[in-house]
Amino acid sequence: KASRKFHPDPSVIKVDNVEIGKEGEFTVIAGPCSVESEAQIIDVAQSVKKSGAKMLRGGAFKPRTSPYSFQGLELEGLKLLKEAKEKTGLPIVTEIMSPKMVEIFDKDVDLIQVGARNMQNFDLLKELGNTKKPVLLKRGLSSTIEEWLMSAEYILASGNPNVVLCERGIRTFETYTRNTLDLSAIPAIKRLSHLPVIVDPSHSAGMSWMVEPLSLAAMTVGADGLIVEVHNCPEKAWCDGAQSLDKKQFENMMNKMKAIGVHV
Ligand code: PEP
Ligand code: MN
Repeated sequence: KASRKFHPDPSVIKVDNVEIGKEGEFTVIAGPCSVESEAQIIDVAQSVKKSGAKMLRGGAFKPRTSPYSFQGLELEGLKLLKEAKEKTGLPIVTEIMSPKMVEIFDKDVDLIQVGARNMQNFDLLKELGNTKKPVLLKRGLSSTIEEWLMSAEYILASGNPNVVLCERGIRTFETYTRNTLDLSAIPAIKRLSHLPVIVDPSHSAGMSWMVEPLSLAAMTVGADGLIVEVHNCPEKAWCDGAQSLDKKQFENMMNKMKAIGVHV
């Protein structure tokens, strides 16, 4: 079902009032790694909206490497995201970790993110397949394109056609960057599948100064959009500050992309 062979036309996935995958459109999702407070999420939401972002990201349930790191505000974070949506109209994107949460996410979230670490959580994928809610499926840390598309297939096969793929960098021998952004995955996905694919330059690079060049590159190779980390004060971020753009840097990057002429 994910293959272009049986579905030659590109799929356009409708997320609330936004469409991802439309010819000539480039959809930018922006926001902090984690929701930290009401003031923080509303400030960032209003700012990224002004710069041209079409959706707000923010982690509420965080898949942290260490059990001693901040795990997210959980349900309180979800509530704050909903509040930011009420204030700005931006649809919300946030990560799900457990199949038990599907019912709540189906009700409250506009685009449900499956993180790299859960790309092969097949119970979660099947459960999301039982809804019609759009799913943002990130590529696993060390997953091949074939494995990634098979994970998408789980959601589609269970009856949910609304899947957006996200390339977020993979593990290689290189340690300079947090992950190696596999730009070749974009044209590969476009050839193999009808599903839209966006790029996460933040988790690929791990460094904020590299986010803009990678974003411009993603646009050039034909991605349908981006998901970018933006924080009101990156130095004080509870999570992923080093790779987060501040509000001004995000605005500058968006202006550059608009100047290139693609409709952002
Ligand atoms: C995130 O988007 O904050 C995140 C944890 O991403 P990934 O699953 O790609 O590591
Ligand atoms: Mn993050």
